[in-house]
Amino acid sequence: MGSTGSIGVQTLDIARENPDRFEVRALTAHSNWQRLAAQAREFDADTAVIADEGCYAPLRDALADTDVKVFAGADAVAQVAAAGNVDTVVNALVGYAGLAPTVAAIEARKKLALANKESLVVGGAYVMPLARERKAPVLPIDSEHSAIFQCLVGERAPVRRLIVTCSGGAFRDLPREALADVTAAQALRHPQWQMGAKITIDSSTLVNKGFEVIEAHWLFGTPPERIDVVLHPQSIVHSMVEFEDGAIKAQLGTPDMRMPISFALLYPDRAHRPCERFDFLAHPQLTFAAVDRAKYPALDIAYDCLRRGGTAACTMNGANEVAVAAFLGGRCAWLDIVRTIEHALAHAAFVERPTLADYAEADAEARALAAAFLNQ
Ligand code: NDP
Ligand code: MG
Repeated sequence: MGSTGSIGVQTLDIARENPDRFEVRALTAHSNWQRLAAQAREFDADTAVIADEGCYAPLRDALADTDVKVFAGADAVAQVAAAGNVDTVVNALVGYAGLAPTVAAIEARKKLALANKESLVVGGAYVMPLARERKAPVLPIDSEHSAIFQCLVGERAPVRRLIVTCSGGAFRDLPREALADVTAAQALRHPQWQMGAKITIDSSTLVNKGFEVIEAHWLFGTPPERIDVVLHPQSIVHSMVEFEDGAIKAQLGTPDMRMPISFALLYPDRAHRPCERFDFLAHPQLTFAAVDRAKYPALDIAYDCLRRGGTAACTMNGANEVAVAAFLGGRCAWLDIVRTIEHALAHAAFVERPTLADYAEADAEARALAAAFLNQ
């Protein structure tokens, strides 16, 4: 799901490299029907779904000479996540739109390889108990969480601390005073990773890192006070786990999302990947520093949302999605992103034990508050 995006395309790279291990059954996109049609053709998929109904006709026409079944609409996206001929679902959608397919895949007892961290940020309190009840494995694709997961393989002793590393995003080396004037083009230049636009902006504000703390809590059951974030500009140590005896395990490697994607897909096996051998001598310095919490208030806001529980993180996410879209469209300043989140959190209703319907309402309210705040 989300096969035309950054994670989606790299997932298909893994499928292409391992034709004996994978059959691609269903592919979904939002509006990029051209790329979706080409992928469905190459991988001989059964089904292609385009979320934007306006793109149905061109997609259908582009695949008219094939056996690929074509559907459109958000409901169809969630439906293929539960399709009978699928055993593993890769959720690489962006934002709140990923929640319904995550729930649908888990309800149908699929193995879920999860890149869409927003599913857990918004609804982790709903999603993870459901996954346990349905015995549906949720395997992280996010590199930090994949690193933690890899460090935990074979361990049964309790964890003292998770140490989530952080590259610092596009403005790591910029002084706080300069942040008022930064542009979307500057924010899109991530120092280490080539990713979709939304997560690249989230990395520049550290909203992404805040979301990853929440994601780590839901995936590994670790309380917020045992999850630390440390700045690591080289992005070689992907994250670490400290145990009660003081031992620390880290997972290292060149930044390449195909590693965590293939681990999620093939666990407990590993892919044979034709990548270059990591050269430690080319990386003689791995450095670590504290995050500047005043420069990046989003991190503490996310911790706060995690502690508050309920719909708080859902509100943060909805407001962030609206503000990031506005910033990318040149309709607000970079500093307005966090201001919008703060405004929405201050004014939104709070539901302590939300149902799925409550999340939908909280998301809609956060978007409305954010749009009004930004005069959109
Ligand atoms: P992209 O923007 O590159 O791709 C998003 C994909 O989802 C595209 O296929 C897009 O279709 C589709 N899509 C977007 N909105 C909707 C919608 N409303 N309904 C249905 N489909 C939709 O994103 P990324 O691949 O960068 O990120 C995907 C997820 O993975 C995010 O949650 C991100 O935080 C997470 N992630 C990404 C990393 C990366 O390296 N990229 C690293 C770690 C996590 P279309 O192409 O038609 O617009
Ligand atoms: Mg990450």
